[in-house]
Amino acid sequence: MKIEVDGRIVLSDILDMPENEVREFFREINNTVLKKGVPKGAIAPEINSFSVDGNEIKVNIISDRHVRAPNALLRIKKAIGKFLSKYKIGVRKVVIDRCYVEIEVDNSIDRLKLPYATCKIESNTVKFVVENIEEQKIEDGLIDKLINLVKEKSLQSKYKGKTEFWKLEKKSNEKKMLFDENPTKKALELGWISEFPSIGQWIFTPPITKIFRTIEKMIIENIAVKHGFQEAIYPKLIPLEIYAKTGHLKGSAHEMYFAEPPIKRDSEIFEEFYDYVRLGEIPKDMLREKLKPPLYGVCYAQCEPFYQLFSGKIVKLEDLPLKFFDRSGPSFRWESGGVRGLERVNEFHRIEFTYIGAPQDVVEIRDALLKSAIEIVDKKLDLEWRVAQATPVYLAHEGRVSEEKGDFVHSYDLEVYLPFRGGREESNWLEITSFHVHEDHYVRSFKIKEVKKRDIWTGCTGFGLERWLVGFLAEKGFEIEKWPEEIKNMVGELPKPVNFVK
Ligand code: ATP
Ligand code: ZN
Ligand code: MG
Repeated sequence: MKIEVDGRIVLSDILDMPENEVREFFREINNTVLKKGVPKGAIAPEINSFSVDGNEIKVNIISDRHVRAPNALLRIKKAIGKFLSKYKIGVRKVVIDRCYVEIEVDNSIDRLKLPYATCKIESNTVKFVVENIEEQKIEDGLIDKLINLVKEKSLQSKYKGKTEFWKLEKKSNEKKMLFDENPTKKALELGWISEFPSIGQWIFTPPITKIFRTIEKMIIENIAVKHGFQEAIYPKLIPLEIYAKTGHLKGSAHEMYFAEPPIKRDSEIFEEFYDYVRLGEIPKDMLREKLKPPLYGVCYAQCEPFYQLFSGKIVKLEDLPLKFFDRSGPSFRWESGGVRGLERVNEFHRIEFTYIGAPQDVVEIRDALLKSAIEIVDKKLDLEWRVAQATPVYLAHEGRVSEEKGDFVHSYDLEVYLPFRGGREESNWLEITSFHVHEDHYVRSFKIKEVKKRDIWTGCTGFGLERWLVGFLAEKGFEIEKWPEEIKNMVGELPKPVNFVK
């Protein structure tokens, strides 16, 4: 790695001092202040040249990876401050006029854009330049952050083109399929659902709602209650700052909805807009001008508020694990061209299980949820299912794809077979629930602490209710008398669908 900084140290007064005294000072700094913390044998940063111009000292610093040049400039600032205090001169600020960075990466990148920087790729070397960096940004470690970003992008490029990690863990016996049509089509024909003017959203009328709620009840009774989960209610408008911590803003923004409140709760601001609406128009661009920039992401993962609950708090292992579930409102995802029937929608409902505790407890909870979910799918609903190991959710949502290493599995997907899509070998299966252990990923990003610094992990498991409904109807069909006993009894008589004369 090579970093070269052209920086300026701005003083409170003109530096009127013989040049050799300044030279002697910088020689001393090169040999002391800049060598601190650099391992033996490694290259230390060095002030390559300097010049004094009125109340400014210009320096050129070259470094390798240890004590990188921008940090060296901050060290120099401190040392000069001390040195000049006897002359009653202070240091106003330091700035970097130009910072040049050269890094070798393991995996070549074919195209690269970096914030604040212009960059160039030459085989396995990335070169970038950032100009005019103010002191606050130097202190915030802008250059270090950009170097990390380049490394991350290089790692990502290794997985580019690879689909998400997927490995079969186990599967059920082949089951008898009672239906081979697309359940969404059938539900439409029966008047159980109705299309909404926008894609990926449906109106559920009472008959299908009753089945939907029965499945929800089954999951709550046999999973939430059985495993001691307590119900909580989580907000569905999530401030962007929280999505920065969960990592969703690093890789899921293209699948998210965002919410923008009005600039001001003042009807006068909207008067012009209201007038157009009264003329029968909806001036959408005008509306946008009256809104703030996006402040919230709309519920994407549903577990975000759980980590926020513990954010910056100190917990005690003896009080854990805590196990909450939320089913208070829908999740939203911009699936766009991927929207399909009832199974891949832009607005869906989920029971989200969230848990925090000692690592072993979190893994046991996740595994127990998986076991109970399989019992429902296999015994109560008599569905054909399979379980796969999947990309850890926190990586997937950050837009990173990785292979699982070692024996430990972070994420399992429970899938059911959709006979209307074709044979069992192909990708005609639907993920209905995913079961996750995040290790300390969110514990670190939300700064959750344990009183005695013992390890704390989190996990979450999301049951997509539309997915369960579609899986069930796809395999068991619409003739209720043929359904497995328990669900048939629980559903009972269905309400009538809506009839239209025309
Ligand atoms: P898929 O790969 O099928 O898009 P995902 O990996 O994006 O799923 P997760 O982020 O793991 O899904 O979300 C957890 C659960 O939420 C899924 O198992 C599924 O039940 C449900 N879910 C996710 N996206 C949708 C959607 N667009 N429509 C309906 N349910 C969904
Ligand atoms: Zn989650
Ligand atoms: Mg998805």
